[in-house]
Amino acid sequence: MGLSKSEMISEIERLKKEKNAIVLVHNYQLPEVQEIADVLGDSLDLSRIARDTDKETIVFCGVKFMAETAKILSPNKRVLLPAKNAGCPMADTITHEQLQKFRDDHPGYKVVAYVNTTAETKTLTDVCCTSANAVSVVKNYPHDKLLFVPDRNLGKYIQERVPEKEMVIWDGACRVHDRITYDQVANAKEMYPNAIVLVHPETPKDVVAICDHALSTNQMVNFVKDSDNEEFIIVTETGMSYRMQEENPTKKFYDPTNPAVCINMKKTTLRHVYEALRDDKNEINLSQEVIDKSTACLDEMLKYV
Ligand code: 13P
Ligand code: SF4
Repeated sequence: MGLSKSEMISEIERLKKEKNAIVLVHNYQLPEVQEIADVLGDSLDLSRIARDTDKETIVFCGVKFMAETAKILSPNKRVLLPAKNAGCPMADTITHEQLQKFRDDHPGYKVVAYVNTTAETKTLTDVCCTSANAVSVVKNYPHDKLLFVPDRNLGKYIQERVPEKEMVIWDGACRVHDRITYDQVANAKEMYPNAIVLVHPETPKDVVAICDHALSTNQMVNFVKDSDNEEFIIVTETGMSYRMQEENPTKKFYDPTNPAVCINMKKTTLRHVYEALRDDKNEINLSQEVIDKSTACLDEMLKYV
């Protein structure tokens, strides 16, 4: 007989203490995983916590690039990715070889990479950013000619706000966000005229243009918490609404996306977390060379808010 849900939660709590572990959970994860989080957050916040924690083991409930980032920032810690095949298809839209060629074709340019990239790709990156600090990184990074990889939607969003920088943008995208349409959001706005519309900047430009605020997932959480408004249309992966509804039970959240589901973010279950902790399963291992060559771009990213 397997463990019941409540037994599994007790075991996870016990194992966390025994193994001196912290469980970091991204905002798009399944509710059952969000419920056992030590910290729930976006890529930027979770990276900072991964760098600063004094725990020996980090259980990263998210996708592979997030766990790899934690390993690069905390190379002496054990980092576990409970669902080992949870990838990010956007990160795979540029390989190490493709970025090498992109750089070779553009001498004199520095590489700004969205943190949604593989560890190997980061070895060729000058500075990373997340959706929370992307505009700030491009605006303040002391170089005028930049290659931006891999998300064309985020790249165009930044370029519009920082026209003084020359950006050459890679043609990648997130399949989940890129599919969200103007009509879906326009219809929701018509149905809920009092709602404030929050959008993730991985969404196409024409959609972002009719939304009120483009924000990272944690910025959305904070915006909703601080707002006096009662209704919100949330234009991003559908898991976001769960956390917001839990934390703001009297407010109303509308998801116009049909829904937009990141299947990779849904691969991690409570059982995966339990088994990863119990057996130290699915450890992230990166070569010393990859860690050495990818640390600087992440340290640089964490300087920007
Ligand atoms: P955040 O950094 O806003 O959490 O977004 C990560 C992500 O993968 C969005 O698709
Ligand atoms: Fe990657 Fe898109 Fe999933 Fe975010 S939502 S993890 S960018 S595939």
